[in-house]
Amino acid sequence: MLSWEQSPSIALMQRERAWVEVDVSAIAHNVRQIRSLLSEKTALMAVVKADAYGHGATTVAQAALQAGATWLGVATIPEGIELREAGIDAPVLVLGANHTPEQIRAIAHWHLQPTLCTPRQALIFAEVLADLPQPCSLAVHLKLDTGMSRLGTAWQEAAAFVQLVQRLPHLTLASVYSHLATAEDPDQTIAKQQQQQFEAAIAQINACGIKPPCLHLANSGGTLSDTAVHYNMVRVGLALYGLYPADHLRTVLDLKPALQVRARVTQVKTIPPGTGISYGHRFVADRELKIAVVAIGYADGVPRNLSNKMEAIVRGQRVPQVGAVTMDQLMLNVSAVSNLREGEVVTLLGQDGNEAIAADDWATTLGTISWEILCGFKHRLPRIAIDQAPPNFRSKKSW
Ligand SMILES: *Cc1c(COP(=O)(O)O)cnc(C)c1O
Repeated sequence: MLSWEQSPSIALMQRERAWVEVDVSAIAHNVRQIRSLLSEKTALMAVVKADAYGHGATTVAQAALQAGATWLGVATIPEGIELREAGIDAPVLVLGANHTPEQIRAIAHWHLQPTLCTPRQALIFAEVLADLPQPCSLAVHLKLDTGMSRLGTAWQEAAAFVQLVQRLPHLTLASVYSHLATAEDPDQTIAKQQQQQFEAAIAQINACGIKPPCLHLANSGGTLSDTAVHYNMVRVGLALYGLYPADHLRTVLDLKPALQVRARVTQVKTIPPGTGISYGHRFVADRELKIAVVAIGYADGVPRNLSNKMEAIVRGQRVPQVGAVTMDQLMLNVSAVSNLREGEVVTLLGQDGNEAIAADDWATTLGTISWEILCGFKHRLPRIAIDQAPPNFRSKKSW
């Protein structure tokens, strides 16, 4: 008889069905590679928003800080709180805009650093901070719009914005920053224009006798494209995870993808010619085929639009996926693999032996970008941190 303590639990089920492996040594490697592009005076912010692009925010943040990043970037306050609750005390910049008293109090309480995008927002912050039982001074980062047309005050109005923040109590100017819209484009015309407008705004601020302690502009694309946009800090997301913002930047650095998606074969069967596979019979066998059912589907983040258009790696060998991807399962044509057993591990993304499938491959097929692929893996997939080359998953599991 099993006692309650010995009974199967979620914690023990991590590699039972499908999972995401995060290679923390690859994160550390990528941080060191990125740092090699930066001068001494340029800090590296690891952007770990959206659960570190699906890799697990705490794991990635700790690995990145250990390897040489000194700042963390998140999109939302809960993302920042998650890092603080994990005991991480590095400076955390919240990249999104926040306005409500609850948000402002949470930022102050958790020692997060907000982005202020408008003079109105600065006034609200000062007012709410003044009402705290123990009013504190909050380090704030001012966002300028230099051509992204997303958050920020128009760059032409930067001086008045910075002067207002300097006058307001409880706010300390920590940085002035902006964001590039086309940094990964081989044609740098627009990026250069944004850089010029950013520098014109800084010149106006300096002319008022204010010297912001920190300037930053570059995302991964900017960081890899042009050292002239590095300033005092770069905010790197995608490259941290081992992916390139564009193909022409592959020669700049040697990055290693950190994420692998794996799942187990749950049934192997042989079907006769003429047999349809999965919903809608969108694939019909033209000959006898051996089919593996794999325990991962679109509810885990394998896009249904990849049906009949993707491959997987089984025992170091590429095999085609066949039929519609379903919510929890998909099918592979494993006719070329002999004696495949239930319980064996399949690689959907990542490396097995000499074969590798990249998030870029999926993105190209789907007409999207690798950023979206990485963020698409759902919480049903356990994130498992590994610290070296993946173990040999060809070994069989006894079921
Ligand atoms: C997401 C984000 C980044 C990181 O972008 P990558 O292209 O993934 O490097 C940098 N800055 C801001 C403001 C962001 O929102």
